[in-house]
Amino acid sequence: MSRYANVIVDLSADALDRVFSYAVPEGMQIVPGQQVSVPFGPRRVEGFVVSLSGECDLPPEKVRPIAAVAQEYPVVLPELMALAEWMHGRYLCNLVDALRLMIPAEMRGGRVHVRTKRYARLRWSAEQVAAFERENSRARRQIELLHSLEKGDLETAALNASALKALREKGAAEVYECEMRRRPSPELGTQRAGDFELMPGQRRAVEAICAAMDAGGERFLLNGVTGSGKTEVYIRCIRHALETGRGAIVLVPEISLTPQMVAWFRARFGDGAAVLHSGLSAGERFDEWRRIRFGEARVVVGARSAIFAPMEDIGVVIVDEEHENTYQSESRPRYDAREVAWRRAETNGAALVLGSATPSISSFMRAMPGVRPENRLELLEMPERVKGRPLPEVELVDMRGEFERGNHSVFSARLAQALRECLSAGEQAMLFINRRGHSTFVSCRKCGYVVKCPQCDVSMTYHQAENLLRCHYCGNTMAPPRSCPQCGSGYIKYFGAGTQKVAEEARRYFPEARVVRMDVDTTREKNAHERILNRFRSGEANVLIGTQMIAKGLDFPNVTLVGVVAADSTLNLPDYRSVERTFQLITQVAGRAGRAEKSGRVIVQTYEPDHYGIQLAAKQDYRSFYRRESAFRKSALYPPFTQIMRVVYSGKEEAAVRGAAEADEERMNAWLDAQGMRRDVVQLRALEAPIALLRGEHRWQLFLKMYFKGDLNAACARMQALAGAAPAGVRAELEVNPVNLF
Ligand code: ADP
Ligand code: ZN
Ligand code: ZN
Repeated sequence: MSRYANVIVDLSADALDRVFSYAVPEGMQIVPGQQVSVPFGPRRVEGFVVSLSGECDLPPEKVRPIAAVAQEYPVVLPELMALAEWMHGRYLCNLVDALRLMIPAEMRGGRVHVRTKRYARLRWSAEQVAAFERENSRARRQIELLHSLEKGDLETAALNASALKALREKGAAEVYECEMRRRPSPELGTQRAGDFELMPGQRRAVEAICAAMDAGGERFLLNGVTGSGKTEVYIRCIRHALETGRGAIVLVPEISLTPQMVAWFRARFGDGAAVLHSGLSAGERFDEWRRIRFGEARVVVGARSAIFAPMEDIGVVIVDEEHENTYQSESRPRYDAREVAWRRAETNGAALVLGSATPSISSFMRAMPGVRPENRLELLEMPERVKGRPLPEVELVDMRGEFERGNHSVFSARLAQALRECLSAGEQAMLFINRRGHSTFVSCRKCGYVVKCPQCDVSMTYHQAENLLRCHYCGNTMAPPRSCPQCGSGYIKYFGAGTQKVAEEARRYFPEARVVRMDVDTTREKNAHERILNRFRSGEANVLIGTQMIAKGLDFPNVTLVGVVAADSTLNLPDYRSVERTFQLITQVAGRAGRAEKSGRVIVQTYEPDHYGIQLAAKQDYRSFYRRESAFRKSALYPPFTQIMRVVYSGKEEAAVRGAAEADEERMNAWLDAQGMRRDVVQLRALEAPIALLRGEHRWQLFLKMYFKGDLNAACARMQALAGAAPAGVRAELEVNPVNLF
């Protein structure tokens, strides 16, 4: 008989990161995973029951009782409770921070509002209705209502109240309450789409994955070129899971979670599919969560955090575009959804499928021979597009030559020519530029002064619509200077191109262009994203200009030209992954062309046409790229051949920030020596962060690079402890394998 419950209180403080014991009052039903309300000091707080026990270390009179049960059912499944504990160890987060990821915000703080509606239902038989009608022919309203109810239950709000009351008194009708679920985008159809005949590559992949599902799970890397039909593979695997009574989770990058994609899944799985993404209202999210929790939806499609969906008995976990950064959380807990997916697949005996045309170097390495079985990914390849469609031809244009020939526009002669041809043939074009705004920096021709954000060590971007300079890191704005703040000259010039400038020049030079622009600035409003894509899909617009937002997932049959305006804009960032990112972006963007009957053409403009990242992306040759890039990583001792982590220090006082980083470097050095771990370390260094000033705070970092054999977890724990003990006025945060090294 368990009379005590171990509870994690829903308060985020390191000191509270442990279980507290409470007594279970007589007659209260408690199970692990349940959400309860407990007295905590003078207040009442919510908490999660982690486990139950028959005894307690505290004297009985010191143990306070659970005040109330928040939900009768356990809100955290046992599997997810164990997962939270694993995350606690793996990501060094508080247990409650992990648990919070597993329930919708709506359920915390006693804010749950289940919306109900009242319905009327007929209790009489047809004969009784007919008899009533004969005998009470003047009770017209009641007769009408009886006839309406014969067709089906009706919401009471819409009915004649006195007629309904009369019928209820006679026992002819009754009223019941029904929980109402807020369904996101209910207007989207649920018609079932027809099936394709699978291509041989697709069939092989589906067979391997389904067999693994039945055999208790295995992990796959599905490397299929753009347009090879990966989505159809996912669909078939999900269907197999459903047929064998199991569920499926599909993760996609937030950007790809367009209504188009959602409609697509709905078309295949109807109401059996739940969708989780950031565009949902809290209420919608809560409803979708419950549909999953109670088994009404057995397929979940969602962005990163959907990996915590309360799904039981999962058959397959799919991570589409697995190379995307968005799978790594950049706030606490800093989890990697791919790792969590791996873990959930393992505990559920499910198949894990990581899919991409351009897998991350680290995932592909796991699919190479010689990897230990517990780390291994089984490689499935689909090197061809469906129906034998060719991959688009990619042409590189050397922009240095353009400038010499006096062409100062963002369009090379080649791209301009191709765009003209495309538009006059009535076809559509997509132009990709990885920067938003108009000009990416503003500088003085005379002395070289560059306008920077006073709060951040970053140059300001010119935004034409508002005629303002804007900092893309902190949002700070200022009026563009008329003369140079440094030398006073009037030679202020605008350099570099962003989406606004490309759109402006497209309108100026191509009269037949009907341009839509898609970037962070044009998609702030709800549904803006879809409105823009609809204008393009309908043909109302024939040129779509955008940032990463247009790089992935989009499938427009009439697009025959894709232009990459500045391929090298991501090439020289201070990050060892900049070449990988560039390769991925170009390949993905190029993949948007020629996806239907018409063949596609891709023009990539670059100032570094000889760079292997650009060359191999143009050939869409992932294998060769992998070989080059992994050789480089190995020789330069970068991940995945080493592991990196850093503590980022920030604060108003530069000396204090720097001092904290340098003091911790010494402490860390001493610790490494004491542990005998020195030989596992490639590099340990306190240095200024690449962006040394951000939002008015100075930034330093303690950077640690270790060999793989080293005990990363121990080093992490030590770095975390140092970060936790940062001096007053300095914030310190640990990042393991950070997404961005700024
Ligand atoms: P990927 O995600 O690999 O880039 P998609 O899954 O978007 O490719 O598929 C590309 C296009 O091919 C889509 O329009 C899809 O509907 C279509 N498609 C997929 N499989 C088949 C098939 N077996 N036969 C015909 N068309 C297919
Ligand atoms: Zn100047
Ligand atoms: Zn700024």
